[in-house]
Amino acid sequence: MVQALVLEKKGELSLRDIELPLEVGPDDVKIAIHTVGVCGSDVHYYTHGAIGSFVVREPMVLGHEAAGTVTAVGARVKNLKVGDRVCMEPGVPNMNSRATKLGIYNVDPDVRFWATPPIHGVLTPEVVHPAAFTYKLPDNVSFAEGAMVEPFAVGLQAATRAHITPGDVAVVIGCGPIGIMTALAALAGGCARVYISDLSAPKLAIAGQYAGVHPVNITERPLAEVIAQETEGWGADVVFEASGSPRAYEGIFDIVRPGGTLVLIGMPVEPTKFDVAAAIIKEARVETVFRYANNFDRAVNLIASGKVDLKPLISETFDFARSIEAFERAAKGLPTDVKLQIAMPG
Ligand code: ZN
Repeated sequence: MVQALVLEKKGELSLRDIELPLEVGPDDVKIAIHTVGVCGSDVHYYTHGAIGSFVVREPMVLGHEAAGTVTAVGARVKNLKVGDRVCMEPGVPNMNSRATKLGIYNVDPDVRFWATPPIHGVLTPEVVHPAAFTYKLPDNVSFAEGAMVEPFAVGLQAATRAHITPGDVAVVIGCGPIGIMTALAALAGGCARVYISDLSAPKLAIAGQYAGVHPVNITERPLAEVIAQETEGWGADVVFEASGSPRAYEGIFDIVRPGGTLVLIGMPVEPTKFDVAAAIIKEARVETVFRYANNFDRAVNLIASGKVDLKPLISETFDFARSIEAFERAAKGLPTDVKLQIAMPG
């Protein structure tokens, strides 16, 4: 039995002992967890008990954004050793699937993803994970930054799908954690400047700390008007939709330049429509993003290089013993909180 933060059912969390498998297979490593980020999806399971077709039916350990230290390695593991500081990719596909063979393992129907029912997450002192999905952190990357690699990998997936050309102008709709990560990934990918829109002034102020990120408060001026002015009426090369709001799609192609790209990241709760004719008239390309594939190592490299600094996005760190408090705080959705993290003792 090990201690873990368990979502018993919708709205009910407990920090208690639970039976978790900790057997190290030949291709696995065992990791002592150090830091775990609280993700919007963890909070949504807590507050709603489900995300789409994923429903919490049995008690489930939460947490999927994690970093820690390797404490044991399987017989066939070559890339890691005991004592290595690491972060972990939470989704493990079927290594024999067609999706995995194609390199799109994020959309493998058989993927097992931490803290997605019925798979347990990692808010517990120790986990076992395949070495192939565990990434060494350089000495200058902290555990706290290591636990930010997962959400940043979503931003990198979006930037990759956008096929950015150096000097592009981008727009990110939605200034939540993923919106900010996407803006930073777009800049790292070569965008000259990124406009980020939201209704929340405190969220925009946090994003606006970064050079190259230009906040647009849509309670003051329509986004389309700002982008038209800033691009001489041409539109943005890339527009990232990261709000998940169906309303974001009203007139969205007005801000995409002719031949530009719209990247869909935010997952709307309800079926959502967009104006196909408006897309066709501009011969716009539409791309979608589901989590990430082959981006964890790139995320670690960018953080280690100093090109991307995610530390200003860590709003507060709670001790593991205060995990429930961390989730209650996250459920409030304070506009001044970007990322809350939980750290293990010791
Ligand atoms: Zn996450």
